[in-house]
Amino acid sequence: MIIIFISIDLAAKGTLADCQATVRCEDAPVIQHELTRVKFRRSAITLHRAIRQNRAMAERVIPLVDQRLAALSPALARGPAAAPTGRLTDTLGRPLRDLRISVTDRCNFRCAYCMPKEVFDKDYRYLPHSALLSFEEITRLARVFLAHGVRKIRLTGGEPLLRKHLENLVEQLAALRTVDGQVPDLTLTTNGSLLARKARALKDAGLNRVTVSLDSLDDAVFRRMNDVDFPVAEVLAGIEAAQAAGLQRIKVNMVVKRGTNDHEVVAMARHFRGTGITLRFIEYMDVGATNGWRMDEVLPSAQLIERLHEHLPLVPLDPLSRGETAERWGYAGSDGRHDPALGEVGVISSVTQAFCQDCNRARLSMEGRLYLCLFATQGWDLRTLLREGAGDEQLAAAIAGIWHGRTDRYSELRSSLPPDRGTPAARRVEMSYIGG
Ligand code: SAM
Ligand code: SF4
Ligand code: SF4
Repeated sequence: MIIIFISIDLAAKGTLADCQATVRCEDAPVIQHELTRVKFRRSAITLHRAIRQNRAMAERVIPLVDQRLAALSPALARGPAAAPTGRLTDTLGRPLRDLRISVTDRCNFRCAYCMPKEVFDKDYRYLPHSALLSFEEITRLARVFLAHGVRKIRLTGGEPLLRKHLENLVEQLAALRTVDGQVPDLTLTTNGSLLARKARALKDAGLNRVTVSLDSLDDAVFRRMNDVDFPVAEVLAGIEAAQAAGLQRIKVNMVVKRGTNDHEVVAMARHFRGTGITLRFIEYMDVGATNGWRMDEVLPSAQLIERLHEHLPLVPLDPLSRGETAERWGYAGSDGRHDPALGEVGVISSVTQAFCQDCNRARLSMEGRLYLCLFATQGWDLRTLLREGAGDEQLAAAIAGIWHGRTDRYSELRSSLPPDRGTPAARRVEMSYIGG
């Protein structure tokens, strides 16, 4: 099979005619190829718009064929043929416990830190339905992952609630069991826009928990951040519906961008304090290759906690389990100790305080590629194995081989890594493709 990667270098280019396309065949030397307007007309229009609308964005490389094709085919791992024991570990001794399954690459929001409008516009080529794993294929893979020790499954995207009949997938996953014979901890991350309509069916299908992303309570700020003018009231209604449906341990994720919504931190904390909902502040991350990330827009969690503590006294709490992404802080009562009735907040500090040492998360894309890190540039193609008729033992062996060889610890290495040169092979996969 020959795989062709195409990228266009926009650096310092002002006009479309000046753009160079790099065409690379997997087994052939890199060749430079003059961009022909006719052949790449659709993408050229997108690029032209990107240049006009956002010069800063245009100075990055905008993928013509995006990362998902570049990640098509690292040689499939050949793992040990032994049956899974539930105790799979990687090169750093990290077990496989958490599987995040992205069910769609589409979203109805355009959060600039994730799917900036200039890139994810009407010409963006989303995957066709036939490329997506079916619910049966996802369930089959999930069963094998559970046999390897996974305990928690999180559905994500894109916006997972855009995938039709998602409750049917939830039902199939809820029927699976961990190696200890337990029902897997089944959860979902959503922007909340469709939650009011879907919460009840999801709960009835077996969903345990839900995490809702919400970046501000201020309607104007929220509409600006989702960039599709979506009102905050509908997301709040979704959260209420999730509570009413009986979904447990609801969490709200707020991505904090300095200068955009950091002034909302205290208001968000006050709103959710004492409601049983845990608010978690996420440092704005350098995921993907399109969000124009800058370190000066990151509010370090330590500063955030300090700011919050001035208004709402906090005390540190111990982690509940190994590999937890969030550092926990409890609201203090009048005696200065944690008051469980007031609840807690969390901070996810993957930029300023790496937590790779305990990272036990694998990510499965909607088209069946396995990624070992949120910042990965390559995924492992399990869909081909599935569709070429591999048995469960072969799938298990492939997954074991891939996880055994895992060395990823991007956040720990971030500062010492060379800058992303923008080549297809070096470009990180988009967050909307593998989920949070
Ligand atoms: N659409 C769903 C949602 O927004 O909840 C699920 C997918 S979204 C990619 C998963 C999580 O990633 C969300 O909580 C979102 O806020 C977070 N996220 C996306 N881009 C991010 C970035 N650049 N830095 C930090 N978090 C990010
Ligand atoms: Fe969509 Fe979620 Fe990304 Fe926002 S963070 S654009 S809601 S996938
Ligand atoms: Fe895990 Fe990669 Fe994040 Fe480190 S950077 S915690 S390895 S996902």
